[in-house]
Amino acid sequence: MALKYNRVLIKLSGESLMGDNGYGISPDMLSHYTKQLQYLVNMGVEVAVVIGGGNIFRGLQAAESGIERVQGDYMGMLATVINGMAIQSSLEKHGVYSRLISAIEMKEIAEPYIRRRAIRHLEKKRVIIFAAGIGSPYFTTDSAAALRANEINADVILKGTRVDGIYSADPEKDPNAVKYDTISFDNVISSGLQVMDMTAFTLCKENNLPIIVFDVNDPDNLKKIVNGEDVGTLVTQ
Ligand code: UDP
Repeated sequence: MALKYNRVLIKLSGESLMGDNGYGISPDMLSHYTKQLQYLVNMGVEVAVVIGGGNIFRGLQAAESGIERVQGDYMGMLATVINGMAIQSSLEKHGVYSRLISAIEMKEIAEPYIRRRAIRHLEKKRVIIFAAGIGSPYFTTDSAAALRANEINADVILKGTRVDGIYSADPEKDPNAVKYDTISFDNVISSGLQVMDMTAFTLCKENNLPIIVFDVNDPDNLKKIVNGEDVGTLVTQ
């Protein structure tokens, strides 16, 4: 069966790695993601992952602890590298080839980001894991997802969340919230919906890069998406 998406960028939040633990990296979640990534690779999909760091540290948290914002942001970026290393290790254990690519140079543990090299890894069906965001403070890993997805010519960004798509209101708070199957970039903005932060979202909108928001806890969703089934909410022009 022909794939709907041949090259995808999957955005996983750091929080999604912690499972029920409330902090750190849950072995169950690692194995949950590894199996799915492995499945996609076996289907022939080219897979890039951008991993967040919110399970360990967020820049905005820093202010509360008296740490300067920029310093805190770098701490957050380092947190994403820890997560990336965990994912790589888990993929390796399952025989899935991968490369960890860091936006901050750390040559002992990760490759530097070189666009053509990253694309070459994808062509060779290695999972690439982008860590350290875009390497600059004041950004988020959503921005990294939007930037790298554009750079590597991904067909779509798959943004994994706890909910199964974009709703008219927060479904965890408002029982009348309705889910969108598809929604335009403009509509997301005019309705004040939160899909990604604005910097990231605008980059996708301006370059017409579709985003699918989906429930990352359902183990079948990723394969359904690449096969063209309607899962979650599709944001397009
Ligand atoms: N961060 C940054 N620049 C980037 C990416 C991340 O400064 O390009 C910092 C920022 O402080 C952020 C933290 O790293 O809070 C962790 O990333 P994020 O909050 O995006 O992770 P997620 O919410 O996806 O777990």
